[in-house]
Amino acid sequence: MQSILEDVLKYCDVLATHTEQPGLIRRTFLSEPMKQTHASVSSWMKEAGMTVRVDNAGNIIGRLESKNPNAKILMTGSHLDSVPDAGKYDGILGVMLGIGIAKALKGTPLNFHFDVIGFSDEEGVRYSMPYIGSLGIAGRLGPEMLARVDANGISMKDAIKNFGLNSDAMDQVPYDFSKVLGFFEMHIEQGPVLESENLEVGIVTGLVGQSRVKLAFHGMAGHAGTVPMTHRKDAFMGVAQLAEFMEPYARSVEGLVATIGMIELKPNGSNVVPGEAFFSLDIRHGDQTVLDQATERILARASEIAAERGLKLEIRTREKQAVVRCDPGLTDAMAATVEASGYKPRRLVSGAGHDTATLSHVTPTTMLFIRSPGGISHNPIESVIPEDVGAALKIGIAFLKRMNDKL
Ligand SMILES: [Zn+2]
Repeated sequence: MQSILEDVLKYCDVLATHTEQPGLIRRTFLSEPMKQTHASVSSWMKEAGMTVRVDNAGNIIGRLESKNPNAKILMTGSHLDSVPDAGKYDGILGVMLGIGIAKALKGTPLNFHFDVIGFSDEEGVRYSMPYIGSLGIAGRLGPEMLARVDANGISMKDAIKNFGLNSDAMDQVPYDFSKVLGFFEMHIEQGPVLESENLEVGIVTGLVGQSRVKLAFHGMAGHAGTVPMTHRKDAFMGVAQLAEFMEPYARSVEGLVATIGMIELKPNGSNVVPGEAFFSLDIRHGDQTVLDQATERILARASEIAAERGLKLEIRTREKQAVVRCDPGLTDAMAATVEASGYKPRRLVSGAGHDTATLSHVTPTTMLFIRSPGGISHNPIESVIPEDVGAALKIGIAFLKRMNDKL
């Protein structure tokens, strides 16, 4: 297994060289380096005993076949695209671990086909839209999405064609999920929890939901010298008061995170009382009820503050992303495998989105997180500890054996 672990880490190093910008890692949906990536990944998949195909959404899929052609399918995978100036492991590692598992099980009789998917896009950089690859697999990549254009005016449909794929045959991309047993994803945590508890891996029970609200306080601009404090309708002070409420409130609710990430003042002059403050709220939690209640509580406080200060509160846009729950059965199986492999089965909620979120709509899912040193990701200094990757490999192999024995 040591040699497979070394291969997995070496694969990540090789893929880091397939980039749009020399000197840093940038690999977006169906870009030129994605061709080199597919060539590398395809050769490694074949070496692991898999048959390989690329679907029309640009996903590369390796299959370790069962002798039974009618067998169901167990899937793993993650994304092969990156953010601009990325690290080596986000997404990539999950695909390479899948290949490593196949390599270890090559020749073992399987009661299911084992598919390892390298998704074409998860980060959403090129089309300002995430999850293109997994949406395709899940049958949720609609014509309105294919019509989107990138910064150079190239539609997604044309990008697919330019890559040498058939954009008129998108109906071949989705799986028949009646034949799929489930999907598991191995991914770096991208956060500090596992490291702080000195753990190699963790089991993901679900992915946080998110409330995204853009709002504004409208007050009255005025002279910073002549308007007495008692006569002001200072829009910024409204935001400050809301922030003062929000931080202790979020800390008081286990697992809740709330952020004001953007603020724009008008007129934005150093000697002017701010007349208007446009700002954002980003609120996340792993439980939908808690998330909804927290969102309402914070917005209610904003409304009270507006009333107290003679400001007008405007809710400009309000979007929400629902909480995703991983499958309890598959998650228990993963937890049992983690424990049987000699590791602590720590369960946690993912604060970031993943391909698993898309697949959860169509098939049972679970995820295994791998410790992120420093909690650092989406950064060139993103790293992994080889022993942790070894743990994930061992757990992945054991998970497949467990699923195989169950059938
Ligand atoms: Zn990722």
